[in-house]
Amino acid sequence: MKRVAVVVGGTRGIGKAIADRLVECGEFRVGVLGRSVEKSIVIESEDSIRAKCDATSLDEVGRAMNAVEKHFGEVNGERGVHVLINAAGVNHDGVMASMNETQMDRIVRTNLLGPMHSCKVFSRLALKHRIQSGSIVNIGSVIGSIGNVGQCVYSASKSGLQGLTKSLAKELGSRNIRVNLLEPGYIDIGMTSELDPDYANEVKMKTCLQRLGTVEDVSNFAMFLVRPESEYVTGQILRVDGGLS
Ligand code: NDP
Repeated sequence: MKRVAVVVGGTRGIGKAIADRLVECGEFRVGVLGRSVEKSIVIESEDSIRAKCDATSLDEVGRAMNAVEKHFGEVNGERGVHVLINAAGVNHDGVMASMNETQMDRIVRTNLLGPMHSCKVFSRLALKHRIQSGSIVNIGSVIGSIGNVGQCVYSASKSGLQGLTKSLAKELGSRNIRVNLLEPGYIDIGMTSELDPDYANEVKMKTCLQRLGTVEDVSNFAMFLVRPESEYVTGQILRVDGGLS
């Protein structure tokens, strides 16, 4: 029986790479959520569907995750969602004095409130369908742990995921549902792809491994966290940052 996974923010970048790996490994049926999905539900294959969803709206997240669960529940003959990857995220660089209310609101609503919405919906579905094991992987950022000039709001939104992860791990542990926070360093994809080359070099030199991360570095670790190999790992903040921190 294939397990069901939902990737919020799986239409591009790191989230897409993780969603692709989940499908390719043959163990999961995957629902990809994002704003850029053309219709409420798009069926791509037996193991992959996409659902339109803005993570900042609890209503939309509820509707999309329930639609994915129902669709695969009918194919699988067993209900429930077993894996949740929270990869949706936005950034806007600027020193604190320059940030306006709209920018701050958008970052916090997407990066922190968004994962709260999907964790809430996931938890309710897990309890309702009495799933026997599960794994939530929140994608934070090393900046949430170490801070950075020009990223006060982004950093705060990501460090908020530390409290969410640790508390939810305590709430769901007795149900054998694990919750971990994966904090990537600078990864050569998505929101980092337009880094100024001089700054990118500076970052590389600050890592022990003297390179930026690849999307495979992150997806390898996410796959470990959703698989039974990590069945005694929960409530942890795990960095994939080449030693930057
Ligand atoms: P991208 O910009 O490439 O992708 C962002 C993803 O988030 C897209 O799939 C986008 O989908 C989705 N998204 C954004 N806003 C919303 C929303 N309101 N509702 C639903 N989905 C949304 O970014 P990355 O791949 O670079 O980043 C992915 C995650 O990894 C983020 O959380 C980021 O903070 C984190 N990260 C990235 C690092 C990097 O170096 N790239 C480093 C550390 C952390 P759509 O447009 O379809 O809504």
